Amino acid sequence: MPVMVIGRDDRVGAVNPALESILGTGLVGKHYISALRQPSVVEAITTLRGGGAAGTVRYISRDGAKDTVYRVTVSPAGSDIVLSFEDQTASEDAGKMRRDFVANVSHELRTPLTALMGFIETLGGAARNDAAARDRFLGIMAHEASRMTRLVDDLLSLSRVEEDERVRPREHVDLPALLNSVIKGLEPQAADAGVTVVLDTADGSEMVQGDAGQLVQVFTNLIENGIKYGASGGIVKVTIHPRAMDLRLRAQAVQISIADKGEGIASHHIARLTERFYRVDSHRSREVGGTGLGLAIVKHIVNRHRGRLLIESEEGLGTTISVFLPI
Ligand code: ADP
Repeated sequence: MPVMVIGRDDRVGAVNPALESILGTGLVGKHYISALRQPSVVEAITTLRGGGAAGTVRYISRDGAKDTVYRVTVSPAGSDIVLSFEDQTASEDAGKMRRDFVANVSHELRTPLTALMGFIETLGGAARNDAAARDRFLGIMAHEASRMTRLVDDLLSLSRVEEDERVRPREHVDLPALLNSVIKGLEPQAADAGVTVVLDTADGSEMVQGDAGQLVQVFTNLIENGIKYGASGGIVKVTIHPRAMDLRLRAQAVQISIADKGEGIASHHIARLTERFYRVDSHRSREVGGTGLGLAIVKHIVNRHRGRLLIESEEGLGTTISVFLPI
């Protein structure tokens, strides 16, 4: 832990190398005001010198591209003062992520709730005796309620996936069989959207170590996205490539790619697509029943399988998302 000692003469008496990596070298002998410079810390020392209590303050080191936030404890040690620095960046980032997440979830739930409450009010009042309006409103209410259900389902699966991310799955799964059944399950949705889903694979089985339920979720999400966002291309092609050495994973891996010929994704969005609630077009996503959590869930499951995800897309030409699973 970075530590600094200030002597009774208010000059820096000693520092350790960890502290030098934050504040630089050549501090010993300098007055603490010129060594530390940030008012919060200087004030805490002055308070202590004036007979006040020990305390903790924030110190922000602006070094390079990113700020590092330290919690500095200023405490007396005889007639010296000891400053110890604790890096808070990780916990502050985690705190911010948690706050953002709660804000996002609340916002996502509020939209359907507001609609539901509006319709409940209308049904109790103006539309009470209007059978046609009642039927239409009930239809919309069912739609909004199922949106909330989908969101809650996705939130729960995200938290489950995060929970067991460190436990490597042990089942053995036959990929062609699994993909065939996923594609079968999505047939009605594909037909509605006018999309044909085809599976391209060599004959026979291709086994990977995995969690069958979670892999079904991965491929359902990816193929569903291909149907939802790639419908204009009319086809979603699922390919199981022959196993090969993957340099990034440093292991033999099988690559499963899901390719559509839809509108594609602009390159500046690609790196952020697996963030929770990140969507290229939120209106569009809501319209097709998206929660914005699908790819976040996919990424966590692929991580749990020690695999990797590759998103390639070209605007106007289509999107190919590949999952590499080590075998
Ligand atoms: P959603 O529930 O909104 O579909 P996802 O996490 O599954 O959330 O996807 C995030 C966003 O990525 C989508 O809102 C969409 O903008 C974009 N996206 C995902 N797959 C495709 C695709 N095959 N083609 C174009 N855009 C896609």
